[in-house]
Amino acid sequence: MTKALAPLQDDMFRACLRDDSSDDGDDEMHEECGVFGIWNHSDAAAVTALGLHSLQHRGQEAAGIVSYDGQHFHSHRGLGLVGDNFSDARVIASLAGTRAVGHNRYATTGDTVLRNVQPLYADFEFGGFAVAHNGNLTNATAIRRALVRRGCLFQSTTDSEVFIHLIAISLYSTVADRLIDALKQVIGAYSLIALSNDALMGVRDPLGVRPLILGRVAHADGSVAWVLASETCALDIVGADFVRDVEPGEIIIINDQGVHSIRPFSRVPARFCVFEYIYFSRPDSVAEGMPVYAARKRIGAELARESGVPADVIVPVPDSGVPAAMGYASESGIPFELGIIRNHYVGRTFIEPTERVRHLGVKLKHSANAPILAGKRVILVDDSIVRGTTSKKIVEMVRNAGAAEVHMRVSSPPTTHSCFYGIDTPERGKLLAATHSVEDMAALIGADSLAFISIDGLYRALNKGDRNPGRPQYCDACFTGEYPIPLPDMAENDPRQLSLLSESR
Ligand code: AMP
Repeated sequence: MTKALAPLQDDMFRACLRDDSSDDGDDEMHEECGVFGIWNHSDAAAVTALGLHSLQHRGQEAAGIVSYDGQHFHSHRGLGLVGDNFSDARVIASLAGTRAVGHNRYATTGDTVLRNVQPLYADFEFGGFAVAHNGNLTNATAIRRALVRRGCLFQSTTDSEVFIHLIAISLYSTVADRLIDALKQVIGAYSLIALSNDALMGVRDPLGVRPLILGRVAHADGSVAWVLASETCALDIVGADFVRDVEPGEIIIINDQGVHSIRPFSRVPARFCVFEYIYFSRPDSVAEGMPVYAARKRIGAELARESGVPADVIVPVPDSGVPAAMGYASESGIPFELGIIRNHYVGRTFIEPTERVRHLGVKLKHSANAPILAGKRVILVDDSIVRGTTSKKIVEMVRNAGAAEVHMRVSSPPTTHSCFYGIDTPERGKLLAATHSVEDMAALIGADSLAFISIDGLYRALNKGDRNPGRPQYCDACFTGEYPIPLPDMAENDPRQLSLLSESR
């Protein structure tokens, strides 16, 4: 499905609208995504595919690339992994041009349809415009309703499409001014990469909740290719050097004249998502100046200091629990062993659509390394307990392998609240920690003991001292219920849920 998008002939969306076969009618979106963009590279599409491949952990349900060759925009978007969609040399060749933007999408509600796959693209009076968004807008429903009343025809159900319409109706003349105009109307967490006829643009929301970084590739002729990406691991794979994080509230504009920075918002204290360190980012990435791998090890060490228990072996729940378990082991002096082996050819359990299949998914994904576990007092280390499905199955599996005791240690505080800023979490009622005490959770997952790192311990491990309740440096709403960005859509659609959120703080 690769097409040259000539002005006013955007048949991509029409084709997408026909592809509703897999739509189960549930259009609610929960997204966590990876974004990548490149300016001035002769292999722009191939490099973007590589960048998206290294960001695959941020979204496995769909991938897309839009490129620009100086005259036409070209697009290819599909359901599935980057490799499923961009391994064919003919597809890459059809994405002509030296500039490209790409997106990996993650959604868990089984409603992935092609029309929601990004980058979104539209033709405006000023030219073409493609946008890739990681995050979630908390006033998208209200904006969308107002825009529909004005006659805007939405083509997808993704919140990101409001950017397209706000830019289209803006009365400003330049693309940058229209983008700023649009950004001033949205509320939420967003890292955006946009491609117009003249520029590649990168934006982070004023609190910098989601990551976005700037990199560069030095060409042999002395010229430079600029890269924007969700994480530094996407630079390594394409041979780019890290330049810096895009700052919270900053717009980076890359054009033939170079890299320009605009700061349209007044500065507010940043609140980077702490869950990026705990789970979401790849361990070889450096986020906000801190290597994620080292951060996870320090969190594990802090967890050992806070909730040590006599044991014979530390076993990570692979892969996400590995660095924290290493930190736990070196702090406690208890040997680290791979007592659970992960099958890498199964997707994340989260994407399984039903509870029944999710249970099965855990079995498909992990198996016990019995000789390591038999007769031992085992400390299992995982990064989080969300619904409790994984922990319950793993504890049972470790016991069945003959473990004498099973203690569960979790390198995040209890997940008591849903995320509305772009990390997929189930509704609050399905979060085990929202409705159970730690003791009840331990009984439910069948562990001899269960402990989570404290919120202060987490901040200490990230070198921030104890959490300053008046001015926390991270967005930690999933653990504290303190939502730093307003939730107007929820206030309107589900006021009961909102009052539950504030009551429970
Ligand atoms: P659960 O089985 O529902 O308790 O989920 C916990 C497991 O899911 C942990 O092992 C985490 O590594 C993983 N996890 C936590 N948050 C997410 C997320 N937003 N998306 C996908 N997986 C997650």
